[in-house]
Amino acid sequence: MINWAFVGASDFARTRMVGSVRDAGGEVVAVVSSSADRARSFAEGLGIARWHDALEPALADPEVDAVYVSTTNELHAAATIAAAHAGRHVLCEKPLATTLADAYAMATACREAGVVFGTNHHLRNAPTHRTMRRLIEEGAIGDVLAARAFHAVSLPEHLRTWRVSSAAAGGGVVFDITVHDTDVLRFLLGREVLEVVAMTTGDVEETVMGVMRFEGDVLASFHDAFTIAHAGTGLEVHGTTGSLIAREVMTGEPSGDVFLRRGAELTAVDVGPRESLYVRALRAFHAAIRGEGAPAVTGEDGIRSLAVALAVRESAATGRAVKVAV
Ligand code: NDP
Repeated sequence: MINWAFVGASDFARTRMVGSVRDAGGEVVAVVSSSADRARSFAEGLGIARWHDALEPALADPEVDAVYVSTTNELHAAATIAAAHAGRHVLCEKPLATTLADAYAMATACREAGVVFGTNHHLRNAPTHRTMRRLIEEGAIGDVLAARAFHAVSLPEHLRTWRVSSAAAGGGVVFDITVHDTDVLRFLLGREVLEVVAMTTGDVEETVMGVMRFEGDVLASFHDAFTIAHAGTGLEVHGTTGSLIAREVMTGEPSGDVFLRRGAELTAVDVGPRESLYVRALRAFHAAIRGEGAPAVTGEDGIRSLAVALAVRESAATGRAVKVAV
């Protein structure tokens, strides 16, 4: 059994990750918040044995094997580095950090400590996306030419806090959603992003549209937003002999549909069992701790999605195409 300390009494930890850890065969034994009241009510509400208003006692707890970091984004780096120094494995929320320097320091600390380091990008665990990747690898659509990600949603009212108001906390739709698009597109295409061009709206971005140029001259357009209530989500990959069309797949649920289109012929694709994205990720993380394989999304993957997000922001700010820095 892998025992976790949760750093951050966040909405996402409370509503999704505690249950997912348990469903993956682990347990959450401690929670850390900057507020003793929040820590206590989080622990009591979810049946977690110990709560702390500082990180150190959780990291000194001999029962703790791994740390899940879901504070606001500017605080991910310090918690991850401290956990690594204490010899704890780390699953960190996206974006890994707000700067590449911090993200590299996190990866270095984990590598030097010999602990597993993962990024909690969920989409590549989806049965829909995994099926699309398999079909692309099998040549079902021929040579890949282009992709499109539609990930414009309406941010729920209770999440309209630091995400919409605080650049310092790592708010904005680019850090929130474009990083996920990047990770799933890298996973599907098996290629790296070389450069981006983008435009945003809002001081703390609430909308972004842009284009990523991947290796091999594959272009991918993306549209992410906090303000679009009725668009639905989707992902398309277009090749020389067919297109994969996925709808309602950019979500935390194992839902949505995938179709293979050739000319006017549209065929529904069987995506197999609808396993929870987060439970799958945690099972892989637990296995990695036991020395079996790697996390579903590594620290390096998190660095790459952050690098793309930073390039997207720079492009929007400067009006120029920007090369990705890793
Ligand atoms: P929250 O706003 O719920 O929590 C972030 C931090 O805000 C908490 O750590 C907490 O600090 C503080 N906080 C929480 N509630 C209050 C409150 N009532 N008053 C004051 N401060 C409060 O963030 P989310 O759960 O939405 O996101 C957390 C992280 O998870 C982010 O990095 C985000 O990007 C990521 N995320 C990832 C998802 C995924 O699918 N991978 C989905 C959703 C979020 P303290 O811990 O000190 O109490």
